[in-house]
Amino acid sequence: MFYHSTRNKALKVTSAEAIAQGISADGGLFVPESIPEMTAEDFENLKGLSYAERAARIFKLYLTDFTDEELRECTKNAYESGSFETPAVQEIAELADGSMLLELWHGPTCAFKDMALQILPHFLTRSIKKTGIDREVVILTATSGDTGKAALAGFQDVPGTKIMVFYPEDGVSSMQKRQMQTQEGENVRVCAVKGNFDDCQNGVKAIFTDPAMQEALAANGMQFSSANSINWGRLVPQIVYYVSAYVTMLEKGILENGQRFCVTVPTGNFGNILAAWYAKQMGVPIQHLVCASNINNVLTDFIRTGVYDRSRTFHATVSPSMDILISSNLERLLYHMTGEDDAQIREWFGALKTEGRYQISIELRNRIQAEFSGSFWDDAQTKETIGKVFAENGYLSDTHTAVGIAAARDYQAKASEKYPMLIASTANPYKFGAAVLEAIGGTADGADEYAVLDLLQAKSGMKIPAALADLKTKTVRFTEVTAQDQMDAYVREKLGIQ
Ligand SMILES: *Cc1c(COP(=O)(O)O)cnc(C)c1O
Repeated sequence: MFYHSTRNKALKVTSAEAIAQGISADGGLFVPESIPEMTAEDFENLKGLSYAERAARIFKLYLTDFTDEELRECTKNAYESGSFETPAVQEIAELADGSMLLELWHGPTCAFKDMALQILPHFLTRSIKKTGIDREVVILTATSGDTGKAALAGFQDVPGTKIMVFYPEDGVSSMQKRQMQTQEGENVRVCAVKGNFDDCQNGVKAIFTDPAMQEALAANGMQFSSANSINWGRLVPQIVYYVSAYVTMLEKGILENGQRFCVTVPTGNFGNILAAWYAKQMGVPIQHLVCASNINNVLTDFIRTGVYDRSRTFHATVSPSMDILISSNLERLLYHMTGEDDAQIREWFGALKTEGRYQISIELRNRIQAEFSGSFWDDAQTKETIGKVFAENGYLSDTHTAVGIAAARDYQAKASEKYPMLIASTANPYKFGAAVLEAIGGTADGADEYAVLDLLQAKSGMKIPAALADLKTKTVRFTEVTAQDQMDAYVREKLGIQ
């Protein structure tokens, strides 16, 4: 299996090259030349296997230049080394209304990003070796909160790698900030940026694609790669959990063989929901995908109108990991859905850069609407949903997951035909403790992030995850703040290059 760039179909690279490079030099994203299909028998064969074993089998379909042993080693390191608190890695919880929550946050940083970022370092170091380049990998990451910590945890002290994370100074929760500032490891750096997530992301992209910077790196035996969901090595592990969830639902008798179900995903960058779409293309019987957003509702508008317009006010919300106005992974969906029309992708994404908007045809918009619906929910509705779900089920959901639950309920209420609903649950509620506490009738007034943990435990009865409780005793290591136009200088200084 080879990979093309969404902006140059003629480009053909192996999966190792795609993962090592992160983003194509033409600015496009790497996409598989075809999407592998799985049969009922293939799903049947995954029954009874551990998550790590299932993952290795599914990776084999996409990462064909890796050996079975290599893939099994990677999945063992990621999912069977004790970093996930439940042996099943992912869990499925059922609510009283029959909908199911796919809990993806049992990893070391309490957010779904661990599902991919615990394995990406293993893919990446092997990919670098395979491509025959003996260079140190420098991971540059822009984060709206959760990616940063999960990437830091995944890459911490991985030989042959360095990682630098940039986050918006006022755009992450205090717990997320704490998690990053206290990160341990000799190869890690964390820096706040004056601006929002998109400023961080644009800063990182500019550094990434700057030929002078790339030359300086190469002269020092280094090369950049990305841990953002633009990297194929980040996206393919996300496909795995939708396939695995289907198999688990078959095992548990929640679904019958081939029974269709819907999936709702709280999303910002369109990464997690795109992974579900790939799973659908592979043969997982997904009827419809619901794209749930907060009031940064650029995706809802896009799905409804076919116009992607980033020129709008950026809102900081209680679901900060979805405070995003540029949904990078939409480029992959549009590439596949236009029949791999790379010229069209260049035009649209060129327009997005220069004019802040692009418009697809009505015909394509209709095809997208046949597969996706979108809705958005403000902070008051998000908190109301957390409160309702807690009152009805005794189940505590985080702010992002609550956006998903609100969207799923709205979709189900309006749908003419009902299908079982699986909702991606993307973070442990303690990660966004203050908002969750208020949502269930508590007050976080004046309490610091640790006091909030205790208050939430007393009010909800749910246990504080050890990974967050332990932060209190850790030293704050990284407090630097930089302007967006100084990120370049920061990177050069910390890498010791001119
Ligand atoms: C990153 C994140 C999201 C959004 O994920 P996408 O990659 O934008 O789809 C949702 N919820 C949480 C908790 C996250 O950390």
